[in-house]
Formats: sequence, structure tokens, C-alpha cells
Amino acid sequence: MSECGCSNTKGTGVGGPLSKGKVLVEFVYNAHGGAVRDQLISAGALTIVCQGCQTQFTLKTYLGTCSNCGGVHAVAPMNPCAENVQFAGKGFELP
Ligand SMILES: [Zn+2]
Repeated sequence: MSECGCSNTKGTGVGGPLSKGKVLVEFVYNAHGGAVRDQLISAGALTIVCQGCQTQFTLKTYLGTCSNCGGVHAVAPMNPCAENVQFAGKGFELP
């Protein structure tokens, strides 16, 4: 594991690894100039239930979409577990 500088956010301000919902998704999307979002989750893929349509799917990378409804989900690289997966909300589309 290399230091990535993400730890300088402690829940203050906008966007950080402790954010919730769409803010966290956007944080992961933009983290390190977009280099994080397509990386495989270090701890292994997570099996989660879509928070938009309740379909179970596998989140392989830190940012992924539901195979059924396209709902955007993301998890912070520091603590990638199913409980920490955040949903951007219905209707959210990646830039
Ligand atoms: Zn879905």
C-alpha cells in the first residue's frame, strides 16, 4: 500500500473518503485524477445489493454500476467493504 494523500480529509469540507452517497461516489470518481475508480478493489470484489433496484451484483472496482439499472456505486479505497459502499442515487449519471 502506498500513501495516497487521501487521509488529509477528516470529514470536513466537501468530498472525502468518509463522505456518504453521491459525494463519496464523486470523490472516488475524481480521486487521483480518475486513476482510482477503475482499479480492482484490493480486498477483492464485493457482492452487494443495488441500493436503487435491490438487484445483487458484484462490485469489482472502486466505482461500478449495477448490471440491472445502471445505478452508480462506489467504495472508499481505504476501507472497501460492503457496508461502506455508497449509492449515488437514482438518476445519477457519470460525467
Ligand atoms: Zn440497480
